[in-house]
Amino acid sequence: MLTVNENFLKLPGNYLFAEIANRISAYKAENPEKNLISLSIGDATRPLSPAVITAMHKAVDEMGTIEGFHGYGPGEGYAFLRETIRDKAYLPLGVDISVDEIFISDGAKSDCGNIGDILGPDNAVAVCDPVYPVYVDTNAMAGRAGDYDGTRWTDIIYMPCNEANGFMPELPVRKPDMIYLCFPNNPTGTAATKSQLKLWVDYALKNGALILFDAAYEAYITEEGIPHSIYEIEGAKECAIEFRSFSKTAGFTGNRCAYTVVPMDLKFGGASLNKLWDRRQCTKFNGVPYVVQRAAEAVYSDQGMKEAREIIDYYMNNAKLIRHGLKNAGLTVYGGVNSPYVWIKTPAGADSWGFFDKLLYGAGVAVTPGAGFGPEGEGFIRLTGFGDAELTKQAVERIIAIL
Ligand code: PLP
Repeated sequence: MLTVNENFLKLPGNYLFAEIANRISAYKAENPEKNLISLSIGDATRPLSPAVITAMHKAVDEMGTIEGFHGYGPGEGYAFLRETIRDKAYLPLGVDISVDEIFISDGAKSDCGNIGDILGPDNAVAVCDPVYPVYVDTNAMAGRAGDYDGTRWTDIIYMPCNEANGFMPELPVRKPDMIYLCFPNNPTGTAATKSQLKLWVDYALKNGALILFDAAYEAYITEEGIPHSIYEIEGAKECAIEFRSFSKTAGFTGNRCAYTVVPMDLKFGGASLNKLWDRRQCTKFNGVPYVVQRAAEAVYSDQGMKEAREIIDYYMNNAKLIRHGLKNAGLTVYGGVNSPYVWIKTPAGADSWGFFDKLLYGAGVAVTPGAGFGPEGEGFIRLTGFGDAELTKQAVERIIAIL
């Protein structure tokens, strides 16, 4: 008889977003006349830029001709996009990545999850707490997490990120094989300096561990000297895979395009991770649509970069408004400087969900309770800069009015 992957049965429901949706529905049913503002979900809201749209139209027209039609593309992505990423995303950082180390995909979410296919089932996994839930859940599906005890997974190494350590994980006592790091961080908004990242690269090299570096928000870094790529750290090509995405960089959350760098120098037990990932992608993935890859290429044109910057600045202005507004109102506020997320301490020791309800019912503003990202997120809420500027301003005023 067929059996199922029992690891899936151990997963708790998607409690966080289901619970947020339930509470919002209940609020709307009780308050049909009120206009709710959501600063909860981290999804792009600004339209695609003109340079991207022009490239997409052109590519669509090409697809309607015999000469310009594109069927299945290379599983690793088209050379034009891989070369553009090498030249425009990495060379300006002084990072020399070769085209065959860059793999185009339909999302950093998929890649962060799928990467586990090429890694052994018994590897010990370390994650930050709070954390983007995909790292934990996909390892639970693969059987690397142990059992869920209602709060934590028994085999996962949790690295607390809190006020005491500046939301920067400390080197764990138990040695991990796979280390997930995300900077600028979702949800805390913290960015890592070169010396902080160097600590992790040195640790991974010394212990034979692999760093899975999620740089989905690198374009939101505003401060000088903060690394945009882990490969700005010496030795990282021997111990780190980097995930990047056009989702938050150019509003591609609905377009779906990302890339992952798997350096040739990554060798474990004599095996090349680059070769394994290539094999995995070409077996299970048939590539991102031609039209979308042309759109992604246009993000790196001079005009595309200027327009992407304007959109990022728009979201960062929202983040600044939230940060300043709530800080001036007396709240303790983190993030929002090198990240579109603002991580806010709940006042008077309120718990995350209690403060969520207070903001929902008192101010008509939906946020994300920090506890949903892990136990260390308790006592915090996350607000996003990805909203409409006018509504963000109104939401901040409403929150201040009830504090
Ligand atoms: N990584 C982090 C840390 C994220 O917050 C998100 C989306 O919210 C993703 C990856 C997903 O990126 P993509 O849209 O490319 O799948």
